[in-house]
Amino acid sequence: MCGIVGYVGRREAMPVLTEGLRRLEYRGYDSAGIAVHRAGKLAVYKACGKVREVIGTLPKRIRSQTGIGHTRWATHGVPNDINAHPHCDNSQRIAVVHNGIIENASTLREQLLTQGVEIVSDTDSELLAHLIARVDAERLDDAVRTVLRSITGTYGIAVIDTAHPDEIVAARNGSPVILGIGDGESFVASDSAALVRYTQKVVYLEDGEVARLTASGYEVSTLDAAPIARAPAAIEVSDGSYDKAEHAHFMVKEIHEQPECIRRTLRGRLDKRFHSARLDGLNISAKELLSFKRIKVIGCGSAYIAGLLGAKLIERLARLPVDAEVAAEFRYRNPIIEHDTLYLAVSQSGETLDTLIAIDEIQRKGGTVRGIVNVVGSTIARKCAGGIYLHAGPEIAVVSTKTFVSTLIAFTLLALFLGRMRDLSPGEGRRLIEALESLPDLVDDLLIHEADYRRLAAKYAHYDHAYFIGRNYGYALAMEGALKLKEVSYIHAEAYPASELKHGPIALITESTPTVVLVPDDDLVERNLASIAEIKARQGPVLAITQSRAQCNGTMVDDEVAVPVTHELLSPIAMLIPLQFLAYFAALERNCDVDQPRNLAKSVTVE
Ligand code: GLU
Repeated sequence: MCGIVGYVGRREAMPVLTEGLRRLEYRGYDSAGIAVHRAGKLAVYKACGKVREVIGTLPKRIRSQTGIGHTRWATHGVPNDINAHPHCDNSQRIAVVHNGIIENASTLREQLLTQGVEIVSDTDSELLAHLIARVDAERLDDAVRTVLRSITGTYGIAVIDTAHPDEIVAARNGSPVILGIGDGESFVASDSAALVRYTQKVVYLEDGEVARLTASGYEVSTLDAAPIARAPAAIEVSDGSYDKAEHAHFMVKEIHEQPECIRRTLRGRLDKRFHSARLDGLNISAKELLSFKRIKVIGCGSAYIAGLLGAKLIERLARLPVDAEVAAEFRYRNPIIEHDTLYLAVSQSGETLDTLIAIDEIQRKGGTVRGIVNVVGSTIARKCAGGIYLHAGPEIAVVSTKTFVSTLIAFTLLALFLGRMRDLSPGEGRRLIEALESLPDLVDDLLIHEADYRRLAAKYAHYDHAYFIGRNYGYALAMEGALKLKEVSYIHAEAYPASELKHGPIALITESTPTVVLVPDDDLVERNLASIAEIKARQGPVLAITQSRAQCNGTMVDDEVAVPVTHELLSPIAMLIPLQFLAYFAALERNCDVDQPRNLAKSVTVE
């Protein structure tokens, strides 16, 4: 689930590998390691902890032109030096890095032990090295293929062999693998972040494919050795996205990028003539779009929450029934797939395995599914026959901020488009387009108040528990606020519909449980104020996020952040900004690792 990088070519491999590992750090990991060929043998350096700890153990100069590196997110065996990748066979001939989970690992382990193999780690991945070493084959790719045919589970792997010092063999099933094609050099990585510095020419491996990389090129084939012709594609990612610039963390840098992300998601998509949106990438005819009776959104984590908000937006503008569901829950209940339902899969990385499997389920049953994805060329983007790219640029912090906002913009465009095909009036369409166009400036104005949010976060950061409540859009937003806070500051935070408070959670309201109340300027202001009164009657501290027209009476709440009024459908974005800063600054107050929160990974490619 974490990171792979590999290099073969004319340069020294070590600096490319260490730089690649640094670029993969943002994904969240617990251990790291590197293996290179050195004087006919393998040299392996690995450690539990950060990439810099591995780099610290490296000898000054290692002459090698081929090697592989890994950042691990443990699934089998605790994070420690021995379980860190790369893993080798007993003769130290083969080194393997692996992302994913080998499901038949315990059977394979038993078999290898009875054959007298010495297994040193608790990982499933080490078994691959022993298995490959035991195949009698002339070519490394043939040995890898033989082993992979006996494996069940998910993998992205890169393998080197002292018998073939000038090549790397890579393969994929369920975990992304990208080949980078250079001039007299080749790269492999699980994420383009590790490649963009060196090449913009990439080849995406598909599930069930194996690649053999040398300095002079690459060959792609199936697990049965049938050759596949695959021309390289171009990636358009600027190297600057991987740099914090003047910011202390990627999270705050990405919060600040949001006005630009909104512009990028909107670019070329506003149809001012018909007061609608242009979404050609959806790849569905108008006739077909009109035939859908409902929409179902699936996603995980923040993508799911963005989907909940998106569902409300589409329902409001297009008057179609829409709901959102956690992707894994959806697929585990053997869902009924209807042909008059449009399914939308939301994923920042486009690699989220739970969402991918749900898409498979929909497609197997003949359903129509489209993606809302940030990473161009990712597996979900390629699997769906169309969709909406966010174009938010790479998101490096593990927790999503700017891609959440861009996803909401994508949903707003879709809602506008579907609404204008149905009953939404041109006037309403125009009003929304105007609001969308002025949204980046509005967000810019909110970003200026960073110091105020910091003061508030300092006041609330010492609490161990918090509630977030709201109604309608405010409830979905409360979910995102609570998720952000727990992800980065480790404060236990729970979101509830405000009306549910009195049905149970109010039992926990005391002077030590603050509640963040979302009070948009909508028809429910009175109801939300009543909820605040109920909390205050029980001595609960209240931080209200309001809009300037719906201000709480100063004495009623402990603190209030008022954001400007905008179009009703865009107010969740305005109200989100203080929530993002609250989480960020609370995490700083509590000395948390903001960009790589414990136990989290950027793209969750395991089930
Ligand atoms: N299952 C492997 C392990 O626990 C790979 C983990 C990963 O994807 O980083 O070592």
